[in-house]
Amino acid sequence: MEMLKVDNVAVSVGEKVVLKNVSISVDRNEVLFLLGPNGAGKSTLLRALVGFPGYNVVSGKIYFEGEDITGVPMETRVAKGLAIAHQIPPKLLGVRVRQLLEALCRRNKCDVHEIANDLGILHLLDREFGKGFSGGELKRVEIATLLAQKPKLALIDEPDSGVDVDSIEIIAKAIKKVIEVSPYRSAIIVTHSALISRYIEPTKVCILMSGTVKICNGKELIEEVFRYGFRELV
Ligand code: ADP
Ligand code: MG
Repeated sequence: MEMLKVDNVAVSVGEKVVLKNVSISVDRNEVLFLLGPNGAGKSTLLRALVGFPGYNVVSGKIYFEGEDITGVPMETRVAKGLAIAHQIPPKLLGVRVRQLLEALCRRNKCDVHEIANDLGILHLLDREFGKGFSGGELKRVEIATLLAQKPKLALIDEPDSGVDVDSIEIIAKAIKKVIEVSPYRSAIIVTHSALISRYIEPTKVCILMSGTVKICNGKELIEEVFRYGFRELV
């Protein structure tokens, strides 16, 4: 039985059907890299998987550990072991980074100082989550929340976009740790960066285009994408 099974899913956002006929699976010990051009629906897929409000599965089913979680609220999915690091994280005004990480670490037994130190965000702990953060700071804090959640399956949306090379290294190492502390060592990572694949080896690579999964294969697919582009591949 796969840990995550997405069976012929269509997703609408508002009036618009963004994803159709999407089928993928992720097993324990599997790291799936999801690639695709801008606007393909990658963020929509991750948000639909975690049950983010407004991202509605209009047909098909999502199973997690054999259980049908289609339509199950986000809090319940998170409690079951799914967690997301958003491409553009929603701001949590009035909540300090420290408060959020402490709450998560109380539940999941982790060390806030260690996580903040790993990600170089000690100086952000007493700031409101997201308020006035640079793109790179937002990414680091977002990955910190994943580390504090120890999810069975981490859904990580473009951790490498808009960040400098040094930050990518820190973020990639932290993602590696997210996978190591995960009970099932599994993740779906949406990425545009060959740099991330220097630190984290995907077990599977899928390409999403125009709202549907066109092809899944081994890690050699990344090289082909960089060489030929998406259109030539499918
Ligand atoms: P990607 O992450 O692959 O760049 P997205 O999932 O963000 O793509 O978007 C896919 C398509 O869905 C785009 O055409 C985008 O405009 C549309 N879309 C996503 N979210 C919304 C939304 N909240 N309202 C309207 N359209 C949306
Ligand atoms: Mg996106």
